[in-house]
Amino acid sequence: MTQTAPITQDVLTIPRKLPEGPVNLVGLTRDTLREVLIAHGTPEKQAKMRVNQIWQWIYQWGVRDFHAMTNLAKAYRAELAEKFVVAIPEVVSKQVSADGTRKYLVRIAGGHEVEVVYIPETDRGTLCISSQVGCTLTCSFCHTGTQKLVRNLTAGEIIGQVMLARDDLNEWPKPGEPAGERPRLISNIVLMGMGEPLYNFDNVRDAMKIAMDGEGISLSRRRITLSTSGVVPEIAKTAEEIGCLLAVSFHATTDEVRDTLVPINKKWNIATLLETLRDYPRLSNSERITFEYVMLKGVNDSDADARRLVQLIKGIPAKINLIPFNEWPGSPYQRSDWERIERFADIIYKAGYASPIRTPRGEDIMAACGQLKSATERARKSRAQIEAEVGH
Ligand code: SAH
Ligand code: SF4
Repeated sequence: MTQTAPITQDVLTIPRKLPEGPVNLVGLTRDTLREVLIAHGTPEKQAKMRVNQIWQWIYQWGVRDFHAMTNLAKAYRAELAEKFVVAIPEVVSKQVSADGTRKYLVRIAGGHEVEVVYIPETDRGTLCISSQVGCTLTCSFCHTGTQKLVRNLTAGEIIGQVMLARDDLNEWPKPGEPAGERPRLISNIVLMGMGEPLYNFDNVRDAMKIAMDGEGISLSRRRITLSTSGVVPEIAKTAEEIGCLLAVSFHATTDEVRDTLVPINKKWNIATLLETLRDYPRLSNSERITFEYVMLKGVNDSDADARRLVQLIKGIPAKINLIPFNEWPGSPYQRSDWERIERFADIIYKAGYASPIRTPRGEDIMAACGQLKSATERARKSRAQIEAEVGH
C-alpha cells in the first residue's frame, strides 16, 4: 500500500460561491426528478420513462455526461446537457493508510469540507460517510464536536460521497452490465462520519433511499447503519421512513456520566432513549441495535459499568460495539488499557451479548472514529495556536 503525504494545502481557502447555473440532478428523489424534468419541458407522458433511464445512467452505471446516455434521443440529450448537471462533491485529496483504509477530503459548495472513509475488510467494505459539516452537538470525546463551522449536507452531497468512492474504487458496472455481476467493494454504508444524521433527517433519508433503490446503487437496507447520539423524536421516524439498521452512541451507564460525555442526554436521558429503542426492531423489522460504547480510561470502563450496561439493555436485541477511544490533538481522555477493554467485553459476552471490540482503522491518517475534522479547521486551529504562542 502506498501512503500519500499528509494534507498541507488549503490553509487559506476562501469559501467560494458557486455560480448560479443548471440544476444538479444528483440527490433528487424519483418524484422530484420527474417534476424537474416536466418543469423543464419533458412531456408528462414520457416523464416516468425518462426518469427510469436517467436514474439508471446516474446511479447504476455512474455516468455523468448526458451525451453518453445513448438510449436517449440525441436532441433530448443536448437539451438535458443545457439545463442540468450531474455533479458530485470534489475530492481535494486522498490518503491511504498502511492498513488500506482510504480517507477522502471532499469539498462541497461554499468551500466547506467533509471527510469520507473507506474501510476494506476481508468479508466486506464499509464506507463511512458524513451528514453535516461539523456537528452542533458537543460530545466531550469527539473531535468533530469541536468544529465550529456547521451546515447540513444536501441529499446530493450525501449520496455524492458514495458515488465518489465508487469512482475511486472503480466500482461502477459498465453501461449495460447488470448489477450484481461482480463482488461489491462498498458492501456497507455507515453514517458515522461527521455530523448527527438525525439533525439532517430529510436529506439523509432521501440520500439513503437513493442508495437502496434497486435500479441503482442497490444496497440493502440491512447494509446501511445510521449512528445517532440519541435524538429520540427522530428514531421512530428512522425506522418507518428509512428502515436501516440503527447504532446508538451510548457510552455511559448513568445519566451523570452520560450528561458529560454525550450532552444531548440532558434533553433525552438514558431511560427515555431506551424506551424508544425498545420499539425500533419491531418498527423497522430489523434484528439488532448496535450500542456503541467508547472506552475511556477511568471514566466509563469499570466492571460495574459493564454490569449496569447489561441490565439497562435487557430485552432489547442488541450488539455492543466497544470502541477503544481514538485520541486527537488536545483530547481530554485516554484510551482504556487493553486488559480493561477485554475484561469489559467478557462481562458483556457472558451476559449473552455479542461484544466485538472495534479495531481502530486508519489511525495513521486520522481516519478513525471521532478523529474527523476538516483539514482547514485543523489548520486554522493550529494557526491560532501558533499565533497565541508568538504572543499576538
Ligand atoms: N453523530 C453520530 C454519528 C457520528 S460519530 C453519533 O454520535 O452517533 C460516530 C461514532 O464515533 C459515535 O459512536 C461516536 O460516539 C464515536 N466517536 C466519536 N469520537 C470518538 C473518539 N475520539 N474515539 C472513538 N470513538 C469516537
Ligand atoms: Fe456530533 Fe456524534 Fe461527535 Fe457527538 S459523537 S459531537 S453527535 S459527531
